[in-house]
Amino acid sequence: MRVAKYYGSGDIRVESADEQTLGPDDVRIDVEACGICGTDLHEYKDGPDLTPSPDSEHPLTGASLPVPLGHEFSGTISEVGEDVTNVAVGDPVTVNPAIVCGECRYCAEGRHNLCESVANIGISARSGGFADSAVVPAANVVALPEGIPVEYGALVEPFSVGIHATRRSGMQTGDSVAVFGAGPIGISIVQAAKAAGATEIFVSEPRETRRDIAATVGATTTLDPVETDAVEVISDATDGGVDVAFEAVGIEPTFKAAVESTKRGGQITAVGISDADVGLTPNELVVVERSINGSNGYLSGPQAEREFSMATRYLETGQFDAEEMITGRVALDDIVEEGFEDLLDPESEHVKILVEP
Ligand SMILES: [Zn+2]
Ligand SMILES: [Zn+2]
Repeated sequence: MRVAKYYGSGDIRVESADEQTLGPDDVRIDVEACGICGTDLHEYKDGPDLTPSPDSEHPLTGASLPVPLGHEFSGTISEVGEDVTNVAVGDPVTVNPAIVCGECRYCAEGRHNLCESVANIGISARSGGFADSAVVPAANVVALPEGIPVEYGALVEPFSVGIHATRRSGMQTGDSVAVFGAGPIGISIVQAAKAAGATEIFVSEPRETRRDIAATVGATTTLDPVETDAVEVISDATDGGVDVAFEAVGIEPTFKAAVESTKRGGQITAVGISDADVGLTPNELVVVERSINGSNGYLSGPQAEREFSMATRYLETGQFDAEEMITGRVALDDIVEEGFEDLLDPESEHVKILVEP
């Protein structure tokens, strides 16, 4: 079988490898599709960061460079270990990639997505979705409903990030929402907020194709922050600010705009992974009683199915539009040139490229 492995910055190689052996609690998935994520691009460009460093092994998985990449994937079960009961050969599935320790303070508190030594399939484990097949623990597998294309299962992971963000924000039915950044996660948040009953959804995004997709999947107003003052437009339209703003970029201008476009007493939920300095003053929170929280991924560990199953249900009902988000499909052998390199081009019109072996 073929597998794409990450060797270090700028170095991903598609190699042939022996099929992995199955433990009693593992399953083998014949991969149908695997999305290229911002995390993958970050590793390719500036890593290793979340992948193990060159001279160490991940404490939970023992994985070390080179590691198989690809954590947003779906496929069909082709083999199950002897103790597996939750899925059977032939089942269409997606994968919650988080592998948690189950022992640290945060796992004990039931907040497994904050696990101190979390690993991820396709980032810091021994298998990944940019491959013909992948062996993963059965506990990480989530069944897909019959009747939706199996490849759409590759979008369940980013959709779950959007669902988790809306849940973390405490958004209520009828709330007005602003989303800063309409990449795959911003667009997933738009869809999750709409499904959760947001009445007005403003999206600020400089790229026209992304604004168009956001509008198609539920944004009621899209704004180009290069051309217009998004904060002013949102404040005017909402009598002083939205109930909830989501920041899905992670840079100072969008972070500040997300805060400033939120009403007094409003909520800002930060989703854009970044170590940028965002330059806030205390009074942007204090005297107006705004709150900021962070949202990291989705529920995992014993709750691995919870938000993933919401996402699969929304796909089944049509409340999540996967097709609109998929802007390209490439073969595994073309993953670097037609996938990674294309997405990293600042002029790229792509949102989500699926690698389909
Ligand atoms: Zn991802
Ligand atoms: Zn833990």
